[in-house]
Amino acid sequence: MNYKAWFQCIDEQCGQTYPLNEIVYKCKSCGNLLEVMHDMELLKKKSPKEWKELFDSRYRRQSWPFGSSVWGKKEWVCPYVESENVVSMYEGATNLFWAERFGKQVGIEDIWLKMCGNSHTGSFKDLGMTVLVSVVKQMMSEGTDIPAVACASTGDTSAALAAYCASAAIPSIVFLPKDKVSIAQLVQPLSNGALVLSIDTDFDGCMELVQRICTEHNIYLANSINSLRIEGQKTISIELCQQFQWDLPDWVIIPGGNLGNISALGKGFLMMYELGLINKLPRLVCAQAQQANPLYLSYLKGFKEFHPVKAKTTFASAIQIGNPVSVNKAIRILKRFDGIVEQASENELADAAAMVDKTGTFNCPHTGVALAVFLKLKEKKVIKPSDKIVIISTAHGLKFVEFKIGYHKDQFEGLNPHFSNRPIELPCDFDAVKDAVFSNIQAS
Ligand SMILES: *Cc1c(COP(=O)(O)O)cnc(C)c1O
Ligand SMILES: [Zn+2]
Repeated sequence: MNYKAWFQCIDEQCGQTYPLNEIVYKCKSCGNLLEVMHDMELLKKKSPKEWKELFDSRYRRQSWPFGSSVWGKKEWVCPYVESENVVSMYEGATNLFWAERFGKQVGIEDIWLKMCGNSHTGSFKDLGMTVLVSVVKQMMSEGTDIPAVACASTGDTSAALAAYCASAAIPSIVFLPKDKVSIAQLVQPLSNGALVLSIDTDFDGCMELVQRICTEHNIYLANSINSLRIEGQKTISIELCQQFQWDLPDWVIIPGGNLGNISALGKGFLMMYELGLINKLPRLVCAQAQQANPLYLSYLKGFKEFHPVKAKTTFASAIQIGNPVSVNKAIRILKRFDGIVEQASENELADAAAMVDKTGTFNCPHTGVALAVFLKLKEKKVIKPSDKIVIISTAHGLKFVEFKIGYHKDQFEGLNPHFSNRPIELPCDFDAVKDAVFSNIQAS
């Protein structure tokens, strides 16, 4: 079967289309965002049962490139790329962790953490980047001149871009806001040989610069305004249903910054719904840091208006974004899914991450935002004890050790940590050690 996909303007009045091998990020006739559309009539020729069996038969196997959970759904993601041009590092198939102990603490049995950060570069960004870099490699094989691929980043996008480009021998350029990404996030693109530009501005400033250089020159833009990334990221929702034996949660809670991932999550569910793999939709919650909350403010006004904000410093640095590029897509998805936007303060996100860490996980600050928002919605009784809940964990906690250490050592001004655990410093003396052991063992 020759499955087909193309770019299409999200404005239904306009609906302009472009082939996937055209270098285009926004609609040329109306300036709106583009999305990848698939020939659904062709996809409907397989029954829901056949799709499920096909996806299950490929899951975590070694037949290239289908063992990757993104490329295992290639017909739904990007049929255009030839398998020999796929740039994959075995994406997805991440742990869907039953947060049993945390659930017991808060009186909810059916609660799960989808560990999207347990991946090649430590964040969900790998899911989208494999698709984008594969399309670039495909285009290069067709003779298109692309000297480099570039992105602005709050850290994780640049790590993913650098790794995928390095693996495919494609030059990459990353635009980072100076001193606003973690050391782990900075060292990843350095190690993978990207050209790293550390610019004295914030993420939104980097975004403007990279968009300009990509529009004025033929450098390929890898930010999530490029809807190819959304196609890979939408496999999060497909995969989590697959992990529940094609059953659905009632709620999915996800931290949102540039708002590509919330849009992607919705797109994955809608595609399964349209093709009959699921027969209802979950409710989606977008969790924002109070320090960078333009979507939350818009939600309070029923999405009637949207105003960018100047993002303030937050521990959740990957979502420190005041002018999200995918806002129109995100609002459309939230309306379709009876969605909620809620926010979390610095104290709330740090405490929520630490509280759940104590039950055996290791949560990044963005996951902390989603966890704090979950606790709020449970408190408000919007989420019921009998509901099935999935919280999307977006990055590996080890990328954010400065945040973790500072929390436990109580080094952050204005923060009041309730779950900190300080190291006890001792001389090398048995009695002192014994005393420390027996006077503290009860408290932990
Ligand atoms: C990119 C990122 C987000 C935000 O995703 P958007 O698509 O920009 O909303 C959240 N958490 C982490 C760890 C990220 O890297
Ligand atoms: Zn248009």
